[in-house]
Amino acid sequence: MLPQWRKISDYFRSLFPGREKTLVILYTTDVHGFIYPYDYVLGRDTPWGLARLATRIAAYRKRYSEVLLLDNGDFLQGSPLTYYYNFLQNRGSHPIARVMNALKYDAASVGNHDIEQGPGVYNRIRRQFRFPWLSANAKIGHKRSYFQPYTIREFGDVRIAILGLTTPAIPLWLNPELYPGIHWQDMVSAARGWLPYLKESQRADVIIGLFHAGIHPNAHRPDWPKGIPEENPCLQIAEEMPGYDVILAAHEHRVYNSHPLKGEPDNPRRSLVMMAGSHGRHLGVVFLKLKRKKNSWRVVDKWGKIESVHHESPHPAIMELMRPYHQRIMHYINSRIGYARHTISSRYSRLKDGGFVNLIHQTQFRFSRAEISLAASFTTTYVLKKGPIRIRDVYGLYRYENYLYVVILTGQQLIDHLEWSAQYFTTVDPQNPLARPLINTDFMGFNYDMAEGISYEIDITRPVGERIQNARFGATGEPLDLQRSFRVAVNSYRAQQLRKRFRCPIIWKSNKEIRDLIVEYIKEKREIWDKTTPNWKLVPEWIVEKYIRERLERDFSAIRDE
Ligand SMILES: [Zn+2]
Repeated sequence: MLPQWRKISDYFRSLFPGREKTLVILYTTDVHGFIYPYDYVLGRDTPWGLARLATRIAAYRKRYSEVLLLDNGDFLQGSPLTYYYNFLQNRGSHPIARVMNALKYDAASVGNHDIEQGPGVYNRIRRQFRFPWLSANAKIGHKRSYFQPYTIREFGDVRIAILGLTTPAIPLWLNPELYPGIHWQDMVSAARGWLPYLKESQRADVIIGLFHAGIHPNAHRPDWPKGIPEENPCLQIAEEMPGYDVILAAHEHRVYNSHPLKGEPDNPRRSLVMMAGSHGRHLGVVFLKLKRKKNSWRVVDKWGKIESVHHESPHPAIMELMRPYHQRIMHYINSRIGYARHTISSRYSRLKDGGFVNLIHQTQFRFSRAEISLAASFTTTYVLKKGPIRIRDVYGLYRYENYLYVVILTGQQLIDHLEWSAQYFTTVDPQNPLARPLINTDFMGFNYDMAEGISYEIDITRPVGERIQNARFGATGEPLDLQRSFRVAVNSYRAQQLRKRFRCPIIWKSNKEIRDLIVEYIKEKREIWDKTTPNWKLVPEWIVEKYIRERLERDFSAIRDE
């Protein structure tokens, strides 16, 4: 039956050549180095990764003739593979470029974590890409963009413009040395400025926003620093500028699709907004139905779906290409650097002072001349097992590429920062302590700092701003002098936040990343113990104990900061 029917429909189509077209857009985002389906930190296979997505991509290309493949940034950071080939082995071709070239991407956008790797890395990989890498709002002066701003793809006589934008909140997180000379223009004005140019001068029939930014706005929050544009304006742009047929979002690692259905009457007039998760778990698929009107093409319908690729078999050609890189990383990640005398778990690392965060503090004290150290726990799942410590454990413990900085804070600023940080906890009613989750899921766990070098309590029954109690300076045991200045060790990400908030001076920077310093510290000490002398605690303690016993595990499943 089917071949017969095909013939008939082909016949009718031949009577009206090129009046109608279906264009398929495939998109990946926030892959963070997850290509080979293996988690180097946990040491096990993963049911996701770009190699599995590649199989699905190939299937779409087989089924449809007009397929556009896009990536929305943040592929250069996040796994030992990217770290190794960004910094330790920086000659020859980069595996990310090789894989993305092999998959024949049509374009990609620049993500904040790609910039975080520094110009040495992103300029090197840019030269290896065989597709344009886009960001229209990374401005040099008023007119020029540091990266290519847009690209045009043609399918027959259909012209598709793809505009790349990057979240402009980068100065909040990254040291300006990572983007020398670049000024991050507000995305909303950039999107508005480019639209008529793409439509009229470039005669684009379809306009796609490839925006490395999210959909949940932040800039209205009271603690958002002045002068930093909105981090996540994708929905605002969609609302104000329906000229963007499709807006592909990123950055938040979530799944979102505004147009799940085919044939909704107002579909073509509203922008389709999609966010396709992270780490090669999902493939975003957008269908555009186009009709020819005189000399141009119009989108008459659009819809999309986000496909999970769990357990899709990895693409053999990508696996083959990746194999030598994979073997290299396996060797690197398993090299032994020391010995753990205890098992040190991160499970309660944000609720009780313990050995996990202490290892970061001790490293920060060892390599800086700070009096006080601030550190966050980046995980609540990693367990450093008793026995040999390998490089991979340090990735499990410390997942980000941060440098060690020393800033000057007054006692008052330190307290203000700890109060801000303590927003990680909701306010507890002692009459009914388990009524609500203790952990505030709106506040990212990696922003919750714990201090060493002072002692203090966090009273979780009091409102934000009045929680830090009994702060004392560790060296003297005296109450913390609010007027005095202290040398405080922090990571480079936090230093940017503190500088925006307090304009505090940065007086020292390490030339190695904190993760490398931890490796050095462990090598030097040879053996690591779980630390037992707490200098801070959440009070009342009985509530915390009860919470850990009776509710914590349930709440952990709602936390999405990893
Ligand atoms: Zn990301």
